[in-house]
Order: sequence, then C-alpha cells, then structure tokens
Amino acid sequence: METIYFDNNATTKVDPEVLEAMLPFFKDSYGNPSSMHHKGGEVATALRKARQSLADLLGCEPIEIIYTSCGTESDNTALWSALRTQPNKRHLITSKVEHSAIINNATFLKHQGYRVTEIGVDRGGLIDMDQLVDSMTPDTALVSLLWANNETGVLFPVEKIADLCHEKGIVFHTDAVQAIGKIPINLKDTNIDMLSLAGHKIHAPKGIGALFVRRKLKFAPFMIGGHQENGRRGGTENVPYIIGLGVAAELAQKRLPEENTRVRALRDRLEEGLLTIPSSMVNGDRVQRLPNTTNISFEYVEGESILFHLSHAGICASSGSACTSGSLEPSHVLRAMGVPFTAAHGSIRLSLSVENTDAEVDRALKIFPEVIEKLRNLSPFWKDGAPALESGLLSCDGNSCQICN
Ligand SMILES: *Cc1c(COP(=O)(O)O)cnc(C)c1O
Repeated sequence: METIYFDNNATTKVDPEVLEAMLPFFKDSYGNPSSMHHKGGEVATALRKARQSLADLLGCEPIEIIYTSCGTESDNTALWSALRTQPNKRHLITSKVEHSAIINNATFLKHQGYRVTEIGVDRGGLIDMDQLVDSMTPDTALVSLLWANNETGVLFPVEKIADLCHEKGIVFHTDAVQAIGKIPINLKDTNIDMLSLAGHKIHAPKGIGALFVRRKLKFAPFMIGGHQENGRRGGTENVPYIIGLGVAAELAQKRLPEENTRVRALRDRLEEGLLTIPSSMVNGDRVQRLPNTTNISFEYVEGESILFHLSHAGICASSGSACTSGSLEPSHVLRAMGVPFTAAHGSIRLSLSVENTDAEVDRALKIFPEVIEKLRNLSPFWKDGAPALESGLLSCDGNSCQICN
C-alpha cells in the first residue's frame, strides 16, 4: 500500500537534491569554516553561497540571517533578544493561536513578571486588529505573531501589523515557519524586524532553522559563545544542514508558483470533495489562507479515531485534538476560534506539498467517506445518516457532554 502523505505542516520529506548537496560536507568537506586553512576556506565559501540562497528567498541581506537549530530556537531567540535589549519595557503582545514555541514562552515570561496580552481571533481565525492596536502601549517591547497558522493555514496581515508597530517604536517578530515557500515574501519591502523559519518544513532536514534580524536592530544573543554568526549565535556551524537549507530555499523559490497553482488546486479539490460528507465544515478563513492546508471537521466523530483509520489505509494526517488524561481536549487554536465542541473533536488537518498528486487526492476521496461513515455508525450521537440531536451534544460547553466526560 502506497503512503499518502498529507502532513507536510508537521514536517516534510527531505528533497533528494537537498540530501545530495549535503553529502560532501559529511565526507571530504569536513573543515571548520572558522579555520584559516584551505579545508576551512572551502566550507566557508559554501556557507556564504547557502546564506545568499536563503537571503534571496526572504528578500533580505545575507548578514541579516542567523542560523539556529530549529524554528523553536529562532522563536526563543527573538523573544529573548527583544526583551533583553529593552530592559525597561515589561509588556509583550502575542495571540491566542500561536505555536507552542511562543505560547509556552509567553507563559514562562508571565511567571517572570512580564505582562502578556494574547490577542483573540474571530470565527475564521483572523486576528482582532482593534484589540491589537488598543493593546500597544509605550511599555510594549514586542509584538510576536504567526504569519501562517500551522493548524488552519490562516494568514495574519503581518506586513500591515509590522507598519503599525514601526510607527509606535515596537519591535515586531513573526513566526513564519509555515509561510516560507508557500507565499511570496520580500522582507526588504516590509517593516518586519525579526522572522523565524525552520528547514524541515521546506524539505530540508530537521534540526536547522534561521532567524532574520533586520540590520541595525539591537540584538542580544540567546546562545552565548564564539564569534560565529557575527557573534550573534555561538557554536560551530551545522555545515551540512545549512548547505541543505540553502538548496531547499532555492527549490522553494522555484516552486512557489506551483504551490499557488497546482498544490492549491489539489487542496481545493480535496476540500470540496470532503465537504460533500454530511456535517462537515472547514475551520478557518478560506481566503486568507495558505495554499496547502485545510482544517476540516467531521461532527460526531473523534479526530483521533479518524487518524487511526486513515493511517490504516495509508493516509498520514493530523488531528486538532490531543488526548490528555483520558479526555479529548480540542486544540487551543480551534477553541480560540470558537469552533463548537462537536466539530472541534472531529477536526483533521490535511497539509499538502509539491510531492502530492491528483491520484492521491482521488484515493483519499474514496477512503474518507468510508472511514467517517464507519465511525459514525459506531457513534451514539449519529443515527440513520444524520445527527441524533436529542443527545444534547450541540449545546455542550466542553465539560458536560458524554464525549467530554
Ligand atoms: C514547526 C513549527 C515550529 C517549530 O519548528 P521546529 O523546527 O520544530 O522547532 C514553530 N512554529 C511553527 C508555526 C511551526 O509550524
């Protein structure tokens, strides 16, 4: 049975071209780029080229890129630096739908005595701009917001928000891990101060990330050590992975049109097909959204049961609920959007890439209705092809129904 991989927002397959480009740096080109001899020099040259490729994808200067170990480190570095360089400011703004790399940091900072404002979103997952603007104060050190939501693909208008922050002298950081390679980005035309990305979401390996830091922005290193990355991140460079990320950036740039035509059309066809299943709905605005992602709910079934059956049929997806201590807790993103519990429990994220094909979508559209029907036939909340409304599930507040308890 062939695998259908629809979980590209979790991680992507390393592209063979990326792997091929990395291999010499595990073999003959083993020098330390800081060394004064020729073995170091050849590696330093290759690193410069890789940095230029990533800068070209982002529309920035090579000097504005700091390599890190992952998207999470980039996010940590951005928050740390913004607060360290403005010690008199004690407030930061983020949103209710951020990645855990930001959310859990914000929680930590609250315990450290910072004031944190988490901006809400509407039913479509779009940010409340009024609340955002009203929250900005002279004490605000940083606004940090996702560019594209990893669960729904919904986009925040970060360029516009960066302008607002710039006017008020507030540093603006965006976690763009999911946006890179899926939408055009040209940092030099924006007021974005810092931007995080991760290699493994764009067909480079896991364990390499980068942080864009605008030239002249005050910066405090998170990893204190040697002179690497212009003294902004100590530690000998992860040479093979940086090389891999460079090639992945070149491929991402080349494939950007395909992401927004062929991949978008595949996603749309998959989504339209799935919406013909009764009691299904898309979570998140369908316009302000990445071309590769759909988050879709099938009411009265559990996301994790769907995943299990899909996986059995060879389909890899992910769910918007996490099973914690026996009760199913819907994702913080869907909760912030006010998705009803009956729908949030049965949510599935499908995220495509240029690797996916029409034939895969055809097969998925055959398997999905069978899986959903099978599960609903087992559900006490579903009778004769329709919801059993007398169950009272629709009015559940997240604590009182039979699924929640
Ligand atoms: C995957 C992801 C991260 C974390 O990246 P890692 O490289 O796994 O640390 C951060 N933010 C978003 C939006 C992501 O999707």
